[in-house]
Amino acid sequence: MYPNDSLENWHQGQGLWADVPAEDWNSWKWQLKNRLTKLEHLEKYMKLTADERAGCLFAKDKLALAITPYFFNLIDRNDPNCPVRRQVIPRAGEMHTAPEEMLDPVGEENTKPVDGIVHRYPDRVLFLVTDRCASYCRYCTRSRLVSNAQDYNFHPEFESGLEYIRSHPEIRDVLLSGGDPLLLSDRKLDHLLGELRKIPHVEFIRIGSRIPVFLPQRITPELCEIFKKHGPIWMSIHVNHPNECTHTLRNACEQLTYAGVPIGNQSVLLRNVNDDAEVMKSLIHRLLMMRVRPYYLYQCDLITGSAHLRADPRKGIEIIRSLRGHTTGYSIPQFVIDAPGGGGKIPINPDYIKEVTDEAIVMRNFSGDEYRYPLTSDANIPNDVNAPELETILM
Ligand SMILES: *Cc1c(COP(=O)(O)O)cnc(C)c1O
Ligand code: SF4
Repeated sequence: MYPNDSLENWHQGQGLWADVPAEDWNSWKWQLKNRLTKLEHLEKYMKLTADERAGCLFAKDKLALAITPYFFNLIDRNDPNCPVRRQVIPRAGEMHTAPEEMLDPVGEENTKPVDGIVHRYPDRVLFLVTDRCASYCRYCTRSRLVSNAQDYNFHPEFESGLEYIRSHPEIRDVLLSGGDPLLLSDRKLDHLLGELRKIPHVEFIRIGSRIPVFLPQRITPELCEIFKKHGPIWMSIHVNHPNECTHTLRNACEQLTYAGVPIGNQSVLLRNVNDDAEVMKSLIHRLLMMRVRPYYLYQCDLITGSAHLRADPRKGIEIIRSLRGHTTGYSIPQFVIDAPGGGGKIPINPDYIKEVTDEAIVMRNFSGDEYRYPLTSDANIPNDVNAPELETILM
């Protein structure tokens, strides 16, 4: 059984950096400046395994190493299997490429009309606005460009992306992503959101960001004002394990929701991180406590060097089955596989339907019992009655 979810069990405070003035600790610029980005930085605070040392030395050619002091505090430094540690400290597994793995696992390069825009679905686009993140997730789908360790040299041209959106009236939904859009300055975000708002056919703007999780200090009152001004803005954050739910994150989510930003969560199903029903249940309960609605649970994409982090998708199906009906419906994310090669997100669900015939749908409920919903034949649907008829019926 996983430790209970009451708030007193949530991480709080400055941990290893207790001596740093609160003003520095709470500054996002300080957090960025003091990120752990090298083997030596990590070894100052913890003993790495041989596997992790090898991974750290390799990282500069694959995906940079960076961990904010805030997020580093959430690692159990005495446990090589710590679920937070596995997400951000490189391992030797990153050096191996399995035959099914790819540099661009979901085929984004093939649906890129201009740099920075991925237009796969009819009515919405992904707008990549930076290649930088506050910390780097070792299983990142966009490792090919994020952090520029592979010399992709991503130079997002906001204007060409905006022009593409302006000239495509079918685009009603714009999803800012990257990298992490919230690493842009307030000035740039204000401009970008303002320009998007000016486009009459853009109905819906959302931001995909792990900043609230890696660098909650970035959620300042000034940033919230920008969201208020250009709202409605929706946000998808990325929390994978209950240990990432801290008082600081909860406070950041509260500020965002007070500014009118509804928040969803996108988790990635990761081996020995969250591929366990109890862990997932604790995570989604804590998300609801932070006013965050679990949105997607992703099967990990087939990015090169991720075999050691990818869970078996059959486990994902079983986890969803263990949740549905057993806990709050609001807390249950949609499990999806982003189809390799560019098919988009495909929902993967446990099967509750036993049989569909002309007479009935035969199904199983959450505890496995069978139920039958009979279908009504057209012949048994009464016609509308007109007023004089109704009077005779009612008399
Ligand atoms: C995930 C994604 C979207 C958004 O999909 P939703 O199901 O609407 O959240 C849009 N474009 C691309 C290319 C995506 O990968
Ligand atoms: S925050 Fe998102 S874009 Fe950045 S490294 Fe993690 S998964 Fe990749």
